[in-house]
Amino acid sequence: MSAVTTPTFITVIGLEVHAQVLTSSKMYCGCSAEYANAEPNTHVCPVCLGLPGALPVMNRAAIETVMRTGIAFNCTIPDHCKLDRKNYVYPDLPKGYQISQYDLPLCIDGEIEFEVDGEITRAGITRVHIEEDTGRLLHDTVEGKSASLVDLNRSGVPLMEIVGEPDLKSPEEAREYLIALRRVLRYIGASSGNMEDGAFRCDANVSIRADDGSFIGPKVEIKNMNSFRAVERALRFEEQRQRSVVAGGGELTQETRGWVDARGFTVPQRTKERAHDYRYFPEPDLPPLRSTQTTRDAILESLPELPVRRLNRFALEYGLARHDAAVLTLERPVADLFEDSVRDLSDHHGYRMTANWIVNDIMGLARARGLPPDELSLTADQIADLVMLVRDGKLTGRAAKELLHQLGESEMPSIAAERLNLLSGSDDDELDLAVAEAMRLHPAAVADYRGGKKAAIGRLIGETMKITGGRASPDSVRQALASILEGERSGN
Ligand SMILES: [Zn+2]
Repeated sequence: MSAVTTPTFITVIGLEVHAQVLTSSKMYCGCSAEYANAEPNTHVCPVCLGLPGALPVMNRAAIETVMRTGIAFNCTIPDHCKLDRKNYVYPDLPKGYQISQYDLPLCIDGEIEFEVDGEITRAGITRVHIEEDTGRLLHDTVEGKSASLVDLNRSGVPLMEIVGEPDLKSPEEAREYLIALRRVLRYIGASSGNMEDGAFRCDANVSIRADDGSFIGPKVEIKNMNSFRAVERALRFEEQRQRSVVAGGGELTQETRGWVDARGFTVPQRTKERAHDYRYFPEPDLPPLRSTQTTRDAILESLPELPVRRLNRFALEYGLARHDAAVLTLERPVADLFEDSVRDLSDHHGYRMTANWIVNDIMGLARARGLPPDELSLTADQIADLVMLVRDGKLTGRAAKELLHQLGESEMPSIAAERLNLLSGSDDDELDLAVAEAMRLHPAAVADYRGGKKAAIGRLIGETMKITGGRASPDSVRQALASILEGERSGN
């Protein structure tokens, strides 16, 4: 057989994220940016309705939040930047243009760190720029006729675009990149990152090229991916599609394709606009922006510890298993809660116990109660109290789990344990009675133990615990049994 070397294809992926900026008012007017539950077209004014003659005013908080984002991604913030008009016609865009940024964005040349299969990976962030959201079209039936309605409450809500370098090599990497990016935005309070509400949206550019340089495919843009899972599936479909087109001798075109989630494929939408189609020009109604080193330093100073760093610190400083550290740092409020819960502890055993209780039981309980992932139903004081009870042997693991389900909203576990009569060793007489009952039920085990087969005590411990309903700790049962079996309290 002759060895013909065929090139290996490499997938090249770059993501563009649009994230709504968390501010109380819109980008260029004073209207409320809270549009989700508002009556249609109630949060509007001449500016965001695009009426002739209305003049925009810049939202300082939004600009600072986007700078914060850039600084969190290690971007350079140039001294000067400007706003530009991006012209196009669409029913949800009353002005006929968006105020965005073209050649001089607010933040450039950053990077993001994320984990893929336990390995730390980095990808470049090309730019982060500020722009405004459009209105929304609602397709409905009005008086028996199908109609398209427009709601302009979202028109002018601050939006940032985070453009990533084409550094991602697989759909899995793209998914992890996106999750890590969203987590940073949530940590620094820049965006809710909520994908279901459309506050966090992602488009992808995908191409393939041969590793020997003999083929470089055109970029295909994928839209309409509404979940992390959809992004991964769409990219997997698209990389396969491009490979089979090339393998079959076909030709790929530069185009925009839409992901059809229900059917699991992408379909052509339109050929991609180029920058000149938008007729960008500098926004004449707003001045250019200038930032100083002092402002940038102040923002850097105010940033919280970012998720990847916090994960590593949790593993190192508290001696937590990497998995537990990762779960605890997914959401900033949960990570804060863990640190508040262990503030009076100083040993790895206590840290790990607390982490275990939060990761396994308390988060499980929150999920069962339908709470969002950044909310747990216990306070730090309650968690610390619970862990202390278990640690001191006053509460068995089983009793503690039961207590969690019956704990009142602001009730301390030590109070609840008494109320529910779950404390172990609180009643020595009760324990003695249980031991006596276990010995009566298993005379053979008693005889074996007294005859020298010390392992027989295991049977009696199990039986005694069953009789006490799990309230007694194995240690206290063992002690009581040993003293009764060997001591003068034998009762026989
Ligand atoms: Zn307005």
